[in-house]
Amino acid sequence: MIQDVLKQIDANREASVAGLKELLTIPSVSTKPEHKDDLRRCAAWIADKLNAMGLTAQVKPTGGHPAVVAKNQHKPGLPTILFYGHYDVQPPEPLEKWLTPPFEPTIRNGAIYARGAVDDKGQVWAHLQAIAAWQRNGGIPVNLTLLIEGEEEIGSDNLEKFVRDNRDYLKADVAVISDTNQYARGLPAITYGLRGLVYTEVFISGADHDTHSGLYGGAIPNPANILCTLLGSLHDQDQKVTVPGFYDDVLPLSQAERDAWAKLPFDEAQFLHDLKLNAPLGEKSYSAIERSWARPTCDINGITSGYQGHGAKTIIPSTASAKVSMRLVPNQDPIKIAESFEKAIKERCPKGVRLEIQRQLCSPRTGVPRRQSHATGHGSGPGRIWQNPDSHPQRRQHPRRRIDQIQPRYRYPAGWLRTAR
Ligand SMILES: [Zn+2]
Repeated sequence: MIQDVLKQIDANREASVAGLKELLTIPSVSTKPEHKDDLRRCAAWIADKLNAMGLTAQVKPTGGHPAVVAKNQHKPGLPTILFYGHYDVQPPEPLEKWLTPPFEPTIRNGAIYARGAVDDKGQVWAHLQAIAAWQRNGGIPVNLTLLIEGEEEIGSDNLEKFVRDNRDYLKADVAVISDTNQYARGLPAITYGLRGLVYTEVFISGADHDTHSGLYGGAIPNPANILCTLLGSLHDQDQKVTVPGFYDDVLPLSQAERDAWAKLPFDEAQFLHDLKLNAPLGEKSYSAIERSWARPTCDINGITSGYQGHGAKTIIPSTASAKVSMRLVPNQDPIKIAESFEKAIKERCPKGVRLEIQRQLCSPRTGVPRRQSHATGHGSGPGRIWQNPDSHPQRRQHPRRRIDQIQPRYRYPAGWLRTAR
C-alpha cells in the first residue's frame, strides 16, 4: 500500500509543484489589514482542495482571521491524528532584497522561492499531497483531523479559544505540528524541544535635552556611553552571560544528545561561508549546534541614541535605549530570568542617569510574559522540552516505511512555536 502511495506522489510531482505555486501566490500577510480578503481567499482555497480530496473541510470564523478545519471519514478503532499548520505569512518587506517578487514563486537551483514557501505553506502542502495520494489508494489509514490557522505569524491570539470552543471536533490521540523544518534534504527531523524568550527594553536618560559635547562633554553623564558599558557587561570573555543566576536552572544536555548532535552532518565552514563570516563566536565549550539549539543566550536586538544622520553632530545625547532579548531553554523561568536581568542592570547602572527597564510582551497587570504579541510577532515564554530522543515513540516503532530507512534526527529548532494545550 505505502509503495502505491509513494508512487502516486512521485507521479504527481508536476501538478503538486504547480499547486504549491498557486498557494504561494496568495499574499496572506496576517499582520496587514489590507490583506484581510487574501487571508479569506487563502483559507477558502485550502478548504476547496481538501474537499476535492474527499475530506469534509470548512472555513471557520475566529475572533480574527478564519481557520480551516477538515476531517476524513473517521472510523472506530483507528487512532485519531490532529494535524496543525498555518496558511498566513510574514510581511515580505524589504522588497528590494528579493531576487524575484515574494508572491511570484520562482524555482532556482531546485528550490522554490516565495514568501511562506518554508513557513508554513510548503509544509502544509506536503501533508495535503500525502493525504491526496492516500485518498487515491484506498483512503488514509487513520482518523485525520486538520486545523490550519491564519494567525500564527501574529501570535495565534484566537487559537486557544478556538481550540476550546471546538474541543470535541479537535479531540485526538496525537497532534502533529508541521511548522518546523527538517535538518537537511533527505534527513527528516522530529522537533522535541523549543527555546523560549524574554524580551526587554532598557532606557537611559540624562540631561533633559541633547547638549553640546564641547561645552558639556566630560562634565555630565552620557546615556549612550553608560548604555554601552551596561550592555558590554552582559557577557564575559567566554561569551557566557554574566547575569547572576542565569544558568542556575538550565537543563543540561545529556551525553547521548551531545553525541547524537555531534554526528549530524554539520559543516561549520559552510555555515560561516553562507553568512559571509570567517570565524565562529559563541559560548565556550559548546558546539555551534548546541549553542543555537540548547543553550540560553542574551542578545541586543537594537540600539538607539544620539545623532544618526549624515555627517557629524557633536552632541551628548539626552537618551539612549536598547532592546535586549534572551532565548531560554527548558527549566528556565522567564519571570525569574527577567527579574535577574533587571536587578543586574540596576546594580551596574551608575548614579546620575535615570534608568527604566520595560518587559515587552508582558501582561500589564501581572508582568507575566505573554507568549506572543500582535505588535511584533515575537513570542515570550519558557523553553519547553517534550520528549527526549530515546523515549520518543517514533524510535519504538517497527520500521516499515520508506522514511524509516533514514534515521530521523531529533532537534531543537531556533525559533518559537506556540503550542495548543
Ligand atoms: Zn510558522
